[in-house]
Amino acid sequence: MHNFLPVAYFEGKFVPFEEANISIATHALHYGTGAFGGLRGIPHPQNSGQILLFRLDRHCQRLSKSARFLNFDLPADKIQSVIVDFIKKNAPTVSFYIRPFVYTSDLGIAPRLHKVEKDFFVYGLELGDYLSPEGVSCRISSWYRQEDRSLPLRGKISGAYITSSLAKTEAVESGFDEAILMNSQGKVSEASGMNVFLVRDGRLITPGFEQDILEGITRDSIIAIAKDLGIPVVERPVDKTELLIADEVFLSGTAAKITPVRQIESYHCSTHRPITDRLRDKLSAITEDADANYRDWVFKVDI
Ligand code: PMP
Repeated sequence: MHNFLPVAYFEGKFVPFEEANISIATHALHYGTGAFGGLRGIPHPQNSGQILLFRLDRHCQRLSKSARFLNFDLPADKIQSVIVDFIKKNAPTVSFYIRPFVYTSDLGIAPRLHKVEKDFFVYGLELGDYLSPEGVSCRISSWYRQEDRSLPLRGKISGAYITSSLAKTEAVESGFDEAILMNSQGKVSEASGMNVFLVRDGRLITPGFEQDILEGITRDSIIAIAKDLGIPVVERPVDKTELLIADEVFLSGTAAKITPVRQIESYHCSTHRPITDRLRDKLSAITEDADANYRDWVFKVDI
């Protein structure tokens, strides 16, 4: 069972989480016409009166852009101010995950985005490790990542997550922890809710935007950190077989942070992961406000 934070933002007000409920006729439930964000909040390790949010501005901008795909004008600053108030109302004492969600709240039928009411809610839940920090095994999914010409993959559109759900369950039911999806061109795209990185000969490689990936904020941060550390970074198409013989492979995401991959199908990855470990340590120090060079990535809320 999840431990939800006690207060949610729903229909323009802060209410007890249990009272934030939608109708069974809600348009978004039927047609997948929602979009969400996902960010972590942690109590400051040195100051329990402060909550740290990693790259809050980027998360709010991405959600605002996702909302535009739904024909909904919701400015990033509005999202940000609701999230800040949400945190103050809940005053969490443990690590948590915030889920802001924009959606067609209309009760009418027929798939469309015009002339339907839209709304926005925020709730949160306690969240520890999403994937095992020791590493995960991955199956190459038989499901393919959708194409940008079929739906706006740069938005976190809720309906698109049917593919992630199919892939994840297929992987887990066949004995793996996670799924890696190829795109329609047969190139590596991403995992069910994470971007994919590999290391070969000291270079960090990750599929580029043209591989139908989500524009991951952790991905973007890792690329910047690696460059600052002097690790060469290449964004380019990746073949499945290249993944199988890589020196290191890891997944990145807000929930997963940096999670090493220990096995892909029947191929075992090395447990010696110098670059993964270096990036992981750096990212974790940054998110905990322990790295002065990246303080502008960490938004602080006094509770
Ligand atoms: N890809 C997908 C499909 C995701 O759902 C996520 C999680 N938001 C990611 C990648 C990673 O994105 P981020 O680093 O912004 O959490």
